[in-house]
Amino acid sequence: MEEPKAVTRLVPRKSAKIEVMPLASRGASLPHGTVGMDDKVARDLACKPWRGKEEREIAKLRGQARSNPAGFPGRLLGFMFTQAGHHNFESLNDDQRAVVVSSMLAADVLYMYIYLRYLCIGKDVRLNIVCDRCGRGFPFTADLETLDVKCVENPEDAEWTYELSDPFKLRGEIVEALEMVPMPWATMENTIRNAAKDGMENSSIKMDVMLGCIHFQSKSQKGDLVEHTLRPEDLDEMSKRDIEILTERIEANGIGPDMQVTGRCPSCAGAFVHNLEWGYDNFFGSSSQPSAAGSS
Ligand SMILES: [Zn+2]
Repeated sequence: MEEPKAVTRLVPRKSAKIEVMPLASRGASLPHGTVGMDDKVARDLACKPWRGKEEREIAKLRGQARSNPAGFPGRLLGFMFTQAGHHNFESLNDDQRAVVVSSMLAADVLYMYIYLRYLCIGKDVRLNIVCDRCGRGFPFTADLETLDVKCVENPEDAEWTYELSDPFKLRGEIVEALEMVPMPWATMENTIRNAAKDGMENSSIKMDVMLGCIHFQSKSQKGDLVEHTLRPEDLDEMSKRDIEILTERIEANGIGPDMQVTGRCPSCAGAFVHNLEWGYDNFFGSSSQPSAAGSS
């Protein structure tokens, strides 16, 4: 077997151009948007009212998703939204909607999820926080209207380049830089699925995220650009140093709603950072609503 010829790949350097705004000002508009056949970007969102009738349908979807919890957010959003970017969900069945949501970006899908909660239930989310500094627990009400949303004006503004500290051989080519794109929702569904499995290591979730965000194309013999879906083995030669830095950069260059809430502890005034628990029961249930929690 002949070793594939190693060519050094040169990538034009790019950095992401991200705009941050509160959810209240972003409103019914996706942070990234979908690109239609005409290459135009569409961002408009429209959803149904959430009434008893919808609640009954959602309960059905919940039941069906028991064997595949990672697929539930997609089914919920596909059912509640009538439009997201250039996708029209009304003309589709449940399975088709799930496929469409899987094809969207994590930034847009997470935004739809938070926005649905905001529209149909309200801006206040009750959280139970335990202070890292003094160990006291206290209730805290997060305001979704003030949640930061990282958005881009053009889809290419969400793309960036990672310059490797240690160039490595990927599919027969020495790469010095990687072209990075926003994470697809399908990658997120995969990490939810993997995280639910026993013994799934955090590090392999990190690799999944990385694989989902690397855009790798090469020229075919005919000279056309072919997109590759990378497998975990493709990153076998990547250095630990690059794995760590790239993971950090993916986080920093990410778009969509900021899923962290910050504030100060009422007892010791220490600052806290809390991850928004967006699991369905927590986020859409009565325990997340200040009025309901207060009267119980
Ligand atoms: Zn404290």
